[in-house]
Amino acid sequence: MPLLEVANLHAHYNYAPVLQGVSFAVDAGEIVSVFGRNGAGKTTALRTIMGWLRPSRGSITFEGRSIGGLSPDRIFRRGIAFVPEDRRIFPTLSVEENLSLGLFSRWRSSSAERRRQFDRVIHLFPRLGERRRQLGKTLSGGEQQMLAIGRALIGNPRLLLVDEPSEGLAPMIVNEIFESLSRMGNEGIGLLLVEQNVHRAATISNACYVMEKGRIVTHGIPSVVLRDEAVRRRLSV
Ligand code: ATP
Repeated sequence: MPLLEVANLHAHYNYAPVLQGVSFAVDAGEIVSVFGRNGAGKTTALRTIMGWLRPSRGSITFEGRSIGGLSPDRIFRRGIAFVPEDRRIFPTLSVEENLSLGLFSRWRSSSAERRRQFDRVIHLFPRLGERRRQLGKTLSGGEQQMLAIGRALIGNPRLLLVDEPSEGLAPMIVNEIFESLSRMGNEGIGLLLVEQNVHRAATISNACYVMEKGRIVTHGIPSVVLRDEAVRRRLSV
Protein backbone atom coordinates (compact mmCIF):
# COMPACT_ATOMS: atom_id res chain seq x y z
CA MET A 1 0.00 0.00 0.00
CA PRO A 2 1.47 3.40 -0.97
CA LEU A 3 1.87 6.03 1.74
CA LEU A 4 -0.08 8.54 -0.37
CA GLU A 5 -2.35 7.69 -3.25
CA VAL A 6 -4.06 10.36 -5.32
CA ALA A 7 -6.57 9.10 -7.87
CA ASN A 8 -8.40 11.04 -10.57
CA LEU A 9 -8.16 14.28 -8.58
CA HIS A 10 -10.11 17.28 -9.82
CA ALA A 11 -10.04 20.75 -8.26
CA HIS A 12 -10.92 24.27 -9.32
CA TYR A 13 -10.62 27.89 -8.24
CA ASN A 14 -14.06 29.47 -8.48
CA TYR A 15 -15.22 27.99 -11.76
CA ALA A 16 -11.83 27.60 -13.44
CA PRO A 17 -10.78 23.93 -13.48
CA VAL A 18 -7.12 23.51 -12.50
CA LEU A 19 -6.69 19.81 -11.70
CA GLN A 20 -8.40 17.61 -14.26
CA GLY A 21 -7.89 13.99 -13.25
CA VAL A 22 -4.49 13.79 -11.56
CA SER A 23 -3.24 10.43 -10.24
CA PHE A 24 0.02 9.58 -8.52
CA ALA A 25 1.47 7.70 -5.58
CA VAL A 26 4.27 8.14 -3.04
CA ASP A 27 5.73 5.30 -0.95
CA ALA A 28 7.40 5.66 2.44
CA GLY A 29 11.03 6.68 1.98
CA GLU A 30 10.41 7.65 -1.62
CA ILE A 31 11.09 11.03 -3.20
CA VAL A 32 8.62 11.84 -5.95
CA SER A 33 8.96 15.00 -8.04
CA VAL A 34 6.27 16.82 -9.97
CA PHE A 35 7.52 18.82 -12.93
CA GLY A 36 5.67 21.16 -15.27
CA ARG A 37 5.63 24.67 -16.63
CA ASN A 38 4.26 27.65 -14.71
CA GLY A 39 0.53 27.31 -14.26
CA ALA A 40 0.43 23.55 -14.89
CA GLY A 41 -1.27 23.01 -11.50
CA LYS A 42 1.64 21.66 -9.40
CA THR A 43 1.14 23.95 -6.41
CA THR A 44 -2.60 23.41 -6.62
CA ALA A 45 -2.03 19.65 -6.36
CA LEU A 46 -0.05 20.15 -3.13
CA ARG A 47 -2.63 22.59 -1.73
CA THR A 48 -5.44 20.13 -2.47
CA ILE A 49 -3.62 17.25 -0.75
CA MET A 50 -3.05 19.51 2.27
CA GLY A 51 -6.76 20.38 2.42
CA TRP A 52 -6.44 24.06 1.49
CA LEU A 53 -8.55 23.43 -1.57
CA ARG A 54 -11.48 21.01 -1.63
CA PRO A 55 -11.29 18.35 -4.35
CA SER A 56 -14.35 18.39 -6.61
CA ARG A 57 -13.77 14.78 -7.68
CA GLY A 58 -11.35 11.91 -7.08
CA SER A 59 -9.73 10.51 -3.96
CA ILE A 60 -6.74 11.19 -1.71
CA THR A 61 -5.70 8.30 0.51
CA PHE A 62 -2.99 8.53 3.16
CA GLU A 63 -1.85 5.39 4.97
CA GLY A 64 -4.93 3.62 3.64
CA ARG A 65 -7.47 6.18 4.92
CA SER A 66 -9.28 8.82 2.91
CA ILE A 67 -8.23 12.40 3.68
CA GLY A 68 -10.05 14.13 0.79
CA GLY A 69 -12.15 17.01 2.13
CA LEU A 70 -10.61 17.03 5.65
CA SER A 71 -9.40 20.35 7.09
CA PRO A 72 -5.66 21.22 6.80
CA ASP A 73 -5.39 20.91 10.55
CA ARG A 74 -6.71 17.34 10.59
CA ILE A 75 -4.55 16.39 7.62
CA PHE A 76 -1.52 17.79 9.45
CA ARG A 77 -2.41 15.72 12.51
CA ARG A 78 -2.59 12.60 10.34
CA GLY A 79 1.11 13.12 9.51
CA ILE A 80 1.46 15.34 6.43
CA ALA A 81 3.40 18.62 6.56
CA PHE A 82 3.72 21.31 3.91
CA VAL A 83 6.68 23.60 3.13
CA PRO A 84 5.20 26.43 1.02
CA GLU A 85 7.06 28.25 -1.71
CA ASP A 86 7.15 31.52 0.29
CA ARG A 87 8.59 29.73 3.38
CA ARG A 88 6.55 31.78 5.91
CA ILE A 89 9.36 32.33 8.40
CA PHE A 90 8.45 34.59 11.31
CA PRO A 91 10.99 37.42 10.88
CA THR A 92 11.04 38.67 14.47
CA LEU A 93 11.21 35.23 16.09
CA SER A 94 14.50 33.40 16.59
CA VAL A 95 15.42 30.21 14.76
CA GLU A 96 14.65 28.25 17.91
CA GLU A 97 11.24 29.92 18.31
CA ASN A 98 10.37 29.37 14.64
CA LEU A 99 11.23 25.68 15.05
CA SER A 100 9.22 25.41 18.27
CA LEU A 101 6.10 26.51 16.38
CA GLY A 102 6.38 23.28 14.41
CA LEU A 103 6.14 21.38 17.69
CA PHE A 104 2.69 22.69 18.58
CA SER A 105 1.08 19.49 17.33
CA ARG A 106 3.36 17.57 19.71
CA TRP A 107 2.28 19.38 22.86
CA ARG A 108 1.18 16.08 24.37
CA SER A 109 4.59 14.49 23.87
CA SER A 110 7.26 14.44 26.58
CA SER A 111 9.94 17.12 26.73
CA ALA A 112 12.50 14.37 26.01
CA GLU A 113 10.66 13.53 22.79
CA ARG A 114 10.44 17.19 21.80
CA ARG A 115 14.17 17.57 22.47
CA ARG A 116 14.83 14.49 20.32
CA GLN A 117 12.90 16.03 17.39
CA PHE A 118 14.73 19.31 17.87
CA ASP A 119 18.14 17.57 17.85
CA ARG A 120 17.13 15.60 14.76
CA VAL A 121 16.46 18.83 12.83
CA ILE A 122 19.71 20.42 14.02
CA HIS A 123 21.57 17.27 13.01
CA LEU A 124 20.08 17.54 9.53
CA PHE A 125 20.71 21.31 9.27
CA PRO A 126 23.73 22.13 11.51
CA ARG A 127 23.55 25.79 10.36
CA LEU A 128 20.25 26.14 12.23
CA GLY A 129 22.03 25.04 15.40
CA GLU A 130 24.76 27.63 14.88
CA ARG A 131 22.13 30.33 14.36
CA ARG A 132 19.57 29.19 16.92
CA ARG A 133 19.31 32.61 18.63
CA GLN A 134 19.34 34.68 15.44
CA LEU A 135 16.10 36.27 14.25
CA GLY A 136 14.44 34.79 11.18
CA LYS A 137 14.85 38.02 9.22
CA THR A 138 18.65 37.94 9.58
CA LEU A 139 19.01 34.56 7.86
CA SER A 140 20.05 34.13 4.24
CA GLY A 141 17.46 32.80 1.78
CA GLY A 142 19.01 29.33 1.96
CA GLU A 143 18.96 29.32 5.75
CA GLN A 144 15.32 30.43 5.73
CA GLN A 145 14.51 27.52 3.45
CA MET A 146 16.30 25.14 5.84
CA LEU A 147 14.30 26.64 8.69
CA ALA A 148 11.02 26.21 6.79
CA ILE A 149 11.84 22.54 6.11
CA GLY A 150 13.08 22.05 9.68
CA ARG A 151 9.89 23.52 11.14
CA ALA A 152 7.80 21.10 9.05
CA LEU A 153 10.03 18.15 9.94
CA ILE A 154 10.10 18.78 13.68
CA GLY A 155 6.45 17.64 14.02
CA ASN A 156 7.63 14.21 12.79
CA PRO A 157 5.47 13.87 9.64
CA ARG A 158 5.49 10.69 7.56
CA LEU A 159 4.95 12.72 4.36
CA LEU A 160 6.40 16.10 3.48
CA LEU A 161 5.11 18.26 0.62
CA VAL A 162 7.80 20.70 -0.52
CA ASP A 163 7.07 23.48 -3.01
CA GLU A 164 10.01 24.87 -5.03
CA PRO A 165 12.72 24.59 -2.36
CA SER A 166 15.51 25.78 -4.66
CA GLU A 167 13.79 28.96 -5.85
CA GLY A 168 16.10 31.99 -5.80
CA LEU A 169 18.97 30.14 -4.10
CA ALA A 170 22.64 29.78 -5.07
CA PRO A 171 23.71 26.36 -6.42
CA MET A 172 25.85 25.49 -3.38
CA ILE A 173 22.96 26.03 -0.97
CA VAL A 174 20.63 24.17 -3.32
CA ASN A 175 23.00 21.19 -3.10
CA GLU A 176 22.95 21.33 0.69
CA ILE A 177 19.16 21.42 0.75
CA PHE A 178 18.77 18.60 -1.74
CA GLU A 179 21.23 16.44 0.19
CA SER A 180 19.14 16.98 3.32
CA LEU A 181 15.94 16.06 1.47
CA SER A 182 17.67 12.93 0.25
CA ARG A 183 18.67 11.99 3.82
CA MET A 184 15.08 12.53 4.94
CA GLY A 185 14.01 10.02 2.29
CA ASN A 186 16.59 7.56 3.63
CA GLU A 187 15.06 8.00 7.09
CA GLY A 188 11.77 6.67 5.68
CA ILE A 189 9.85 9.92 5.14
CA GLY A 190 7.91 10.18 1.89
CA LEU A 191 8.60 13.39 -0.04
CA LEU A 192 6.48 14.99 -2.72
CA LEU A 193 8.54 17.69 -4.35
CA VAL A 194 7.49 20.40 -6.80
CA GLU A 195 10.59 21.80 -8.45
CA GLN A 196 11.57 23.93 -11.46
CA ASN A 197 15.19 22.80 -11.14
CA VAL A 198 14.30 19.59 -12.96
CA HIS A 199 17.77 18.14 -13.42
CA ARG A 200 18.81 18.67 -9.81
CA ALA A 201 15.54 17.27 -8.47
CA ALA A 202 15.86 14.27 -10.81
CA THR A 203 19.13 13.24 -9.13
CA ILE A 204 17.41 12.64 -5.76
CA SER A 205 14.00 11.41 -6.98
CA ASN A 206 12.86 7.81 -7.28
CA ALA A 207 10.00 8.79 -9.58
CA CYS A 208 8.68 11.84 -11.37
CA TYR A 209 5.41 13.01 -12.90
CA VAL A 210 5.12 15.63 -15.61
CA MET A 211 2.05 17.88 -15.48
CA GLU A 212 0.55 19.98 -18.20
CA LYS A 213 -2.70 21.93 -18.01
CA GLY A 214 -3.91 20.10 -14.93
CA ARG A 215 -3.15 16.61 -16.18
CA ILE A 216 -0.28 14.15 -15.78
CA VAL A 217 1.16 13.62 -19.26
CA THR A 218 3.88 11.11 -18.36
CA HIS A 219 5.63 9.56 -15.38
CA GLY A 220 8.40 7.14 -14.51
CA ILE A 221 12.03 6.97 -13.44
CA PRO A 222 13.40 10.54 -13.84
CA SER A 223 16.48 9.60 -15.90
CA VAL A 224 14.25 7.74 -18.36
CA VAL A 225 11.47 10.35 -18.48
CA LEU A 226 13.96 13.18 -19.07
CA ARG A 227 15.71 11.32 -21.86
CA ASP A 228 12.58 11.87 -23.96
CA GLU A 229 13.07 14.84 -26.29
CA ALA A 230 9.33 15.67 -26.27
CA VAL A 231 9.30 15.83 -22.46
CA ARG A 232 12.36 18.09 -22.38
CA ARG A 233 10.67 20.40 -24.90
CA ARG A 234 7.52 20.43 -22.77
CA LEU A 235 9.55 21.44 -19.72
CA SER A 236 11.94 23.73 -21.65
CA VAL A 237 14.97 21.98 -20.12
P1 ATP B 1 3.90 27.87 -10.77
O1 ATP B 1 5.18 27.18 -11.01
O2 ATP B 1 3.75 29.14 -11.52
O3 ATP B 1 3.53 27.99 -9.30
P2 ATP B 1 1.99 25.71 -10.89
O4 ATP B 1 2.16 24.57 -11.81
O5 ATP B 1 2.31 25.47 -9.46
O6 ATP B 1 2.81 26.93 -11.45
P3 ATP B 1 -0.56 26.60 -9.94
O7 ATP B 1 0.01 27.64 -9.03
O8 ATP B 1 -1.09 25.36 -9.34
O9 ATP B 1 0.51 26.22 -11.04
O10 ATP B 1 -1.68 27.31 -10.81
C1 ATP B 1 -2.49 26.59 -11.75
C2 ATP B 1 -3.51 27.53 -12.35
O11 ATP B 1 -4.40 27.98 -11.33
C3 ATP B 1 -2.92 28.77 -12.99
O12 ATP B 1 -3.64 29.03 -14.15
C4 ATP B 1 -3.16 29.85 -11.95
O13 ATP B 1 -3.31 31.10 -12.56
C5 ATP B 1 -4.45 29.41 -11.30
N1 ATP B 1 -4.50 29.81 -9.87
C6 ATP B 1 -3.54 29.57 -8.95
N2 ATP B 1 -3.93 30.04 -7.73
C7 ATP B 1 -5.15 30.62 -7.90
C8 ATP B 1 -6.09 31.26 -7.03
N3 ATP B 1 -5.84 31.42 -5.72
N4 ATP B 1 -7.23 31.72 -7.58
C9 ATP B 1 -7.51 31.55 -8.89
N5 ATP B 1 -6.69 30.93 -9.76
C10 ATP B 1 -5.51 30.46 -9.29
